[in-house]
Amino acid sequence: MVKRTKIVATLGLVSDTKETLRAMIENGMNVARLNFSHGDHEWHGKAIKTIRELSAEMNVPIGILGDLKGPRIRTMVEAPIEIKTGEFILISDVVKAPNFQFPISNFQTISNEQISNDKKLTLDAGNIVDDIEVGHEILIEDGLMKLVVREKDGGVMLGEVIDGGTIKNRKGVNVPDSQLKISAVTEKDEQDLKFLMENEVDFIGLSFVGSGSDVEYLRGKMKEFLGREDNLPQIIVKIERKEAIKNLDDIINKTDAVMVARGDLGVEIEGTRVAVLQKEIVKKSLQHMKPVIVATQMLDSMIVNPRPTRAEISDVTNAVVDHADAVMLSGESAGGKYPVESVRTMRDIIQHTEASPFDDVTHLMKLDIDDDFKNLVKGAFDLAKNSASTAIVLASVSGFTARMMSHFRSEKPLFVATNNEKTYHQLALVWGAQPFFTQEKELSKVLEEMIAYRKSTGELKDGDKVIAIFGSANDNKEKMQLVGVKTI
Ligand code: PEP
Repeated sequence: MVKRTKIVATLGLVSDTKETLRAMIENGMNVARLNFSHGDHEWHGKAIKTIRELSAEMNVPIGILGDLKGPRIRTMVEAPIEIKTGEFILISDVVKAPNFQFPISNFQTISNEQISNDKKLTLDAGNIVDDIEVGHEILIEDGLMKLVVREKDGGVMLGEVIDGGTIKNRKGVNVPDSQLKISAVTEKDEQDLKFLMENEVDFIGLSFVGSGSDVEYLRGKMKEFLGREDNLPQIIVKIERKEAIKNLDDIINKTDAVMVARGDLGVEIEGTRVAVLQKEIVKKSLQHMKPVIVATQMLDSMIVNPRPTRAEISDVTNAVVDHADAVMLSGESAGGKYPVESVRTMRDIIQHTEASPFDDVTHLMKLDIDDDFKNLVKGAFDLAKNSASTAIVLASVSGFTARMMSHFRSEKPLFVATNNEKTYHQLALVWGAQPFFTQEKELSKVLEEMIAYRKSTGELKDGDKVIAIFGSANDNKEKMQLVGVKTI
């Protein structure tokens, strides 16, 4: 049984051999995620080469997602610092306090001398103190520790400890209340982006996006590095900041695809709101016809156990019922003991859910586009639904027509033929799309080739009725032509 919801799996040291990757593809991995927070270009380059080889050998599209590290702020401490609730700590940044040398400051609440000399925390982002205001929260290590800024003076902040712990070096820091001026694409990201453009990956993950202009900035850089205006990798924005929730409509309008990055999102906002926000983000993405991935901790216990918890199974089921395009594995496939089993388990949950009536929801399928193209694709979808047809067969150059058809979540198979290799791999992320690639230039022949191929695999047979539709022109608004019911 073909699954419609796609699987994104993060690669790491436990999943970088050809045999393991082959097994992951066989068990349902559709998109390989390379996390540029870890690994060097040599490792990532080898992984890209292996995936491309396997995709060709196994004749399956595999999207490659290069996920940029983004402006992640980290702690810098010379030695671990113990902090207790009610205590005060001095906080500065690398520019204001170079080499851990804090400037002199005078606070009303408490004098400098009253603060123990070891209670000094440096944040590794330049001039970030300017963007953090009195009253703002500073969260450390996935929100385990919480400080609130009580005063600022001379480039130093006085933080009151709300939730204590031990601050270690290089731990992640979130400042959910602050509007940061730091760029969403750092110097390291630019180097990684150049490498990813040279390697012609299919998707770029934009971490810690805050606004639609961050998306436009990244797309500008991609064009600059590639030296072309179209056929770009698609941008997947990672919704993980409070700021991104505020600017959600603008961001979703400008991006190509969306990831609900629940790890950092659950730190920046109360964790108890994450599930509801997930539903809102998925719904909005679907309305804007942007593929959406639900990510992080989906089968977390499988990092160490061969079977997931019942709650984790329920989590994946829920994302499928909500009609997300894809669900994602992180540590489970990148660093856990059971990378292949995690993919297989995810596939099984998806298939059980899709076979049930619970995912047959169409009331969320509102589309925020109203033009003749939509009417045409919707017409083809209705025709497929209400006729004795076996499948929808579609030729698409940029993938736009295929994404629009996918939006309606047809119960009937959606076979998509394309002569654009990037589109072929990008459609690996799109719900229900079963892509086929050929070098053939003429679209009617592209479609015929795919029909012949699907007959050879037994997915279609002589005499079947199909709904045929073309989307031509290599831009984001393909010209569409409905062929109608066709007997093959
Ligand atoms: C997340 O925070 O949920 C996420 C996917 O981002 P990363 O794995 O890059 O921290």
